[in-house]
Amino acid sequence: MAQKIVAGNWKMNLSAGEGKTLVSEIVAGDRSSDVAVMVFPPSLYVQKLSEVAKNEISVGVQNFNPNESGAFTGELAISQVKSVGSSIGLIGHSERRSLFGESDAFLKLKVDAAIAQGFQFIFCCGEPLEIREAGTEFNYVKNQLEASLFHLSAEQMKNGIIAYEPVWAIGTGKTATSSQAEEMHAEIRSWLTEKYGEDTAQSVSILYGGSCNNKNAKELFACPNVDGGLIGGASLKAESFLEIINAF
Ligand code: PEP
Repeated sequence: MAQKIVAGNWKMNLSAGEGKTLVSEIVAGDRSSDVAVMVFPPSLYVQKLSEVAKNEISVGVQNFNPNESGAFTGELAISQVKSVGSSIGLIGHSERRSLFGESDAFLKLKVDAAIAQGFQFIFCCGEPLEIREAGTEFNYVKNQLEASLFHLSAEQMKNGIIAYEPVWAIGTGKTATSSQAEEMHAEIRSWLTEKYGEDTAQSVSILYGGSCNNKNAKELFACPNVDGGLIGGASLKAESFLEIINAF
């Protein structure tokens, strides 16, 4: 059975003080203990927020570099992230792909670096609007997974986390319907089963992301293959984020 997860991607939002208040409120809030909760704040805050989170929730990074050290101005190595108490990062978010030119090949390097250094990750995939309109979204998402993730062994994939985030739904207020989400999640599960077998496929958490909020989370999380959510805008307020956590 895959772990239920609700993760908040803060993107480039909130001050240090606001972030601290938000994490304190989430930690103190009424939360189902069955759900693993994660937040991905701006990296600057990760050390402080890991202390505030007191191991009750995970604090991860939105980005990291696959190289171990050296002349990569502005970047963070996995060892540096781990040295401030964080052990998880996002890979392949559509904003990293489209705004920062991160290619499938570069994302594969990140996946390999994370595996080699015992660093957990959420691998994001999802199709842009024109692909959905052309009806080729399943091929598109399968190609993304095959290009950067599906080279892993079953052992490496076990307990992996995939987030399906249709690009047309991110930050647009336009959520995928629960049947659109379930259809893609079921496909992803079937590709995992084909490649890795039933056991591994059932142990990988597949999260939905794209305008998921406290109003629609219940319906989305009720889908058999939706194991939780990667939440942007609605993760910035404790009240709505806690409602999403409790939407299972
Ligand atoms: C995201 O950025 O991962 C995301 C899902 O954003 P939003 O919830 O704001 O659409």
